[in-house]
Amino acid sequence: MTYVITQGCCSDASCVLECPVDCIRPTPEERTFGITEMLYIDPDTCIDCGACVDACPVEAVYADYDLPAQYARFTEINAQYFERHPLSSSPLVMTRTAKPDSERGPLRVAIVGSGPAASYVADDLLNRKNVEVEMFDRLPTPWGLLRSGVAPDHLRTKGLSDLFDTSFASPSFAYHLNVEIGTHLSVAELLKHHHAVVLGVGASTGRPLPVPGADLPGSHTATQFVGWYNGHPDYADLQFDLSGERAVIVGNGNVALDVARVLTMSPDDLAASDIAPHALVALQASNIREVVLVGRRGPLQASYTTGEFLALAHLDDVEVVIDPEAVVLDSHSRELLASGTLEPSDELKVELAREYADQSSAGWSRQISFRYLQSPTSVLGSDRVTGVELVSNELVEDDGMLVARATDHSETLETSLVFSSIGYAGQAMPGVPFDAKRGVTPTDGARVLSEPDGEPEAGLYAVGWFKRGATGGIGSNRVDATATVDALVEDFNSGSLTDPSSSRDDLISLLQDRQPERIDAEAWARIDAHEQALGSESGRPRAKLVQRSELLAAADLATT
Ligand code: NAP
Repeated sequence: MTYVITQGCCSDASCVLECPVDCIRPTPEERTFGITEMLYIDPDTCIDCGACVDACPVEAVYADYDLPAQYARFTEINAQYFERHPLSSSPLVMTRTAKPDSERGPLRVAIVGSGPAASYVADDLLNRKNVEVEMFDRLPTPWGLLRSGVAPDHLRTKGLSDLFDTSFASPSFAYHLNVEIGTHLSVAELLKHHHAVVLGVGASTGRPLPVPGADLPGSHTATQFVGWYNGHPDYADLQFDLSGERAVIVGNGNVALDVARVLTMSPDDLAASDIAPHALVALQASNIREVVLVGRRGPLQASYTTGEFLALAHLDDVEVVIDPEAVVLDSHSRELLASGTLEPSDELKVELAREYADQSSAGWSRQISFRYLQSPTSVLGSDRVTGVELVSNELVEDDGMLVARATDHSETLETSLVFSSIGYAGQAMPGVPFDAKRGVTPTDGARVLSEPDGEPEAGLYAVGWFKRGATGGIGSNRVDATATVDALVEDFNSGSLTDPSSSRDDLISLLQDRQPERIDAEAWARIDAHEQALGSESGRPRAKLVQRSELLAAADLATT
């Protein structure tokens, strides 16, 4: 018997740290850790102890004899990784984390944002002791993308928040939700009350399609749709026309796959998710029968992860359609595949695309179709979307990368609904340096710099997508957070951070003055319990409240 890591792997390395025989790869010390699609267990070394199962925060590890049918291929996926990367005997180097110097009094840190990256920072700091952590979020609810980005059917991924239960129960930790930095308090004011401010505000803006017609009604960013179906208060009132039969998504990353799944999920599967109530009603009545994903490069370069691509095969009554012609690879990709230098997961991506292309149609009700080597050149329509003009691409080498170059062949695809799923950008924050071109704050890997390659801004640090751009799954933020906290503690211990000029109590009275509707941990617990109770009334995991007024009422803070 051996254990197998499956689709939901968050790659946060909790399992790596617990494995007594060090048989899980890649480890955080390896170069490929930050870019791996998932972690893998070496079946020949695993001693079946189950420590990884207990350690996994998202329940992605199974005993091979207990593997659900839809994960059967992950036995092979785990084993193949070690055929390419035989387990080296080099033991894990456990680096000792520096603790804040207790002689300097408590290290006081404000964290802006409450998503996974920010939460990993808080957890890491609290585990080092001698700290006080104040966490701010402009929404009345915590968890950032864990609540409003992760797809509603990925309930186990959302369970990652349980990881923080113990550390966030500490009196050294406080939530200040419904408080916007830049509106209720400035970054400079936060710095007066703390030794350091960590910015973990993510990348909240979806990149719109850079083509004419992208602003027509019926054309949206995936970010808007994701925010809408996840009940983000800023997006809850948007309208999506689901009366047509076809939707087109440009881009083929995991967000595009999430959107495609949500658009084609059966009414029962939608109800079993924690999708926002308004979206459940709208999607259960939707006419969409076909979702077309348009990738500008080929099946080998597709941005989705192999596990998510594989999972589409197990959707209820949904057919994955790929034209056999589309999986005939170009010469560059063929050479790469033959070179033996690719990760097994990349090879499998092509193999799966071929399997989807080979399967015969079984007359399923809904379809997810993949198109490769195509880009939109315009969104068509006069007063609303009626189609997209797509140009065919070829792959050419450019500076060591295979990039898409338009050919002179184009076609029109009729549709009434278009989503741009071509990535996210961060938004500038008042008082914080910002690199508008990259959509991130410039850093040295942890400390915010006055400009790229400039000097550190005293006391300011960044983490997650606001620092490194919108790449990487949730778990990748754990190592990222440790790097940020290491730098912060080093600066505290060396005496280069300015002591706060006022106390924690001063901060609370200032907050009461500036934002009487501040939501603390107890108020959030009341919202959380209310949503879960509402959900259970209709047999759902949770019924999200989506309007700020409803959330404040559930927190017992409503004003008349
Ligand atoms: P992504 O993986 O970076 O995908 C962006 C897609 O947009 C790529 O297909 C890219 O093509 C395409 N693109 C970019 N510019 C384009 C243009 N001008 N025209 C046409 N296509 C363009 O981003 P994402 O899907 O937004 O996901 C963000 C991160 O979150 C990723 O790391 C993702 O894995 C993670 N995530 C993970 C999960 C999960 O684990 N289940 C779920 C959601 C998100 P090229 O490849 O050619 O650049």
